[in-house]
Amino acid sequence: MGLIVQKYGGTSVGDIDRIRNVARRVARTYDAGDKVVVVLSAMSGTTDRLIAMAEEACERPDKREMDVLLATGEQTTVALLAMILKCMGYQATSLLGFQAEVVTDCSCGAARILNIGASRIRRLLDDGQIVIVAGFQGSDAEGNITTLGRGGSDTSAVAIAAALKADTCEIYTDVDGVYTTDPNICKKARKLSRVSYDEMLEMASLGAKVLQIRSVEFAKKYNVPVHVRSSFKDEEGTMVMQEDADMERLVVSGVTCNKNEARITLKGVPDRPGIAFRILNPIAEAGILVDMIIQNTRSGNITDFTFTVPKTDIRDALEISKKVAEEIGAEEVMADPNIAKVSVIGVGMKNHSGVASKMFAAMCEENINMIMISTSEIRISCIIEEKYTELAVRALHTTFGLDRPEEKLS
Ligand code: ASP
Ligand code: MG
Repeated sequence: MGLIVQKYGGTSVGDIDRIRNVARRVARTYDAGDKVVVVLSAMSGTTDRLIAMAEEACERPDKREMDVLLATGEQTTVALLAMILKCMGYQATSLLGFQAEVVTDCSCGAARILNIGASRIRRLLDDGQIVIVAGFQGSDAEGNITTLGRGGSDTSAVAIAAALKADTCEIYTDVDGVYTTDPNICKKARKLSRVSYDEMLEMASLGAKVLQIRSVEFAKKYNVPVHVRSSFKDEEGTMVMQEDADMERLVVSGVTCNKNEARITLKGVPDRPGIAFRILNPIAEAGILVDMIIQNTRSGNITDFTFTVPKTDIRDALEISKKVAEEIGAEEVMADPNIAKVSVIGVGMKNHSGVASKMFAAMCEENINMIMISTSEIRISCIIEEKYTELAVRALHTTFGLDRPEEKLS
């Protein structure tokens, strides 16, 4: 007999019929002899609606009260599922975050889980019950209700699975797994049967929206196997797990793109110690996240300094940069919002040489100019003109053999 944590996202509990569908799936798992803990999101659209209401109520809603409000979305779905399961003849109990002893820090709206007591969950499970926990919420040391940030119920589920030492954490969502790339861009995209934690982390931070990044960090830290799958189909999805030799045989397992960044260049910057700090410190102090940075020294102790920021912050970043440019005597500042970041990801890169040159050859073949390049142990990213994004993604998908079915690769 195993212990399974199942998490259902907003679309999977979007209306009563869908909650009934979830109840049937949960019941099936329970009937097969496993202990089941269910973690739920709010119905799709609910959290957005609650936020809109609060913003209508006042300009800057109090953060503590905002969390009290947002937590009601998940309170609704857990109660409904528990009711339905009880009507079906099962013993089920719904628990809010604090009742499940999900203890967080006190940063409202973006709280981090510190500990999960889970003694009550364990008692209920031992009693033969199905336990249904509200995702996305916990409470701080003083008992205030907190929420974990958008998409946080993924993290609730993985953290509860870790605390209970569950066999797997199944994440039921509206897509049937993790894909080699965005199927809307590349028709040949296909579902991966397995992906490593590190690859998933890169994919999530590069814009793949399947899992909240924090949940993958948790899964990696506590080695919880996460099964991402569709709540509308029976077929297997994608296992997110520790890497193994098989995964390393594949050089690249995914291609991602992100159009949410913009580029700022300071030209003709005096090349001396402390300059990068002078430029980037005010950007950081304004709370703007910098992603890629490059600096090219020209002759005569002059350098060009380029970095990328989220597109939404381009105005502020440009304003700050112009001020700094004046102070340090740079020639000019340029901003370009029409860029995209295209990346290839794969743990196999660690043991294969020539991945970068293969990527560059593919871009050359399509006549796409690379404006910036950055690498990590398992990722190569480049900034290109935004209009070539789709072309670049498809070219890389083909170059790295991802168009073919997985079986033939190994
Ligand atoms: N209901 C929350 C949200 O919409 C949490 C979640 O669904 O994971 O962000
Ligand atoms: Mg979600």
